[in-house]
Amino acid sequence: MGEKGGISVQTEHIFPIIKRWLYSEKDIFLRELISNAADAVSKLKHLISIGEVSGIDDDFSIFVKINKKDETLTISDNGIGMSEEEVKKYINQIALSGALDFIQKYDGKNKDGETSKDDSADGIIGHFGLGFYSAFMVADKVDIITKSYSPSPAVFWTCNDEGDYEMENSDKSDRGTDIILHINEDNREYLEETKLREIAEKYCSFMPTPIYIIDNEKDEKIEDCRINPTEPLWKKSLAMF
Ligand code: ADP
Repeated sequence: MGEKGGISVQTEHIFPIIKRWLYSEKDIFLRELISNAADAVSKLKHLISIGEVSGIDDDFSIFVKINKKDETLTISDNGIGMSEEEVKKYINQIALSGALDFIQKYDGKNKDGETSKDDSADGIIGHFGLGFYSAFMVADKVDIITKSYSPSPAVFWTCNDEGDYEMENSDKSDRGTDIILHINEDNREYLEETKLREIAEKYCSFMPTPIYIIDNEKDEKIEDCRINPTEPLWKKSLAMF
């Protein structure tokens, strides 16, 4: 394979926006990446349930792994994965026109037309699918290593915070996706387990897939690393009646 490029014309605009306009909403990058991982698991489960895919009997899970030495944070799932075409389509070419129009119109103005920071930034990120790129709020480089459930070769994709990416084949053999964030100098707090737990417990407790936060320097029992309850909370509350 082997491909290099600059994230498409419209997407060039996304990096300054992420860095400047959304700066105060940094914590949500983790929610966005864990949501994508949970969606990837749900999609695969759906394909299994309709009989499109068979022969998979894994326990589905999402791992957030802290590596303080390398200053990386990796979000891994064993969901549907992406083929080369899917990385090109869903990651390299994002249909941002809607988001860009909105941002150009409303950036810096409140409803009375006065200048202020728009506090709905959070919603816009998710709504227009800027989710993955919110990683660049805390990272100066992001890698994706992914293998689709379909028999297509695994892909390694890497992109710097100017939007320049490279793509090549990877030797990843198991299905799923690893998103590796090279945490930048100003955001080393996102390599702290307590900080990550706090965010994940706030935003991700209701997600149906088990989520674990693991610091590779600590020797913890895996069950103590889980942030969402074993049983969905709605089941727990039903049990009270
Ligand atoms: P959204 O999730 O709102 O569609 P994102 O920018 O967060 O927007 O992600 C774009 C797309 O990239 C997703 O819709 C999905 O197809 C793909 N994607 C992102 N993360 C993953 C992942 N962990 N596994 C599989 N596909 C993914």
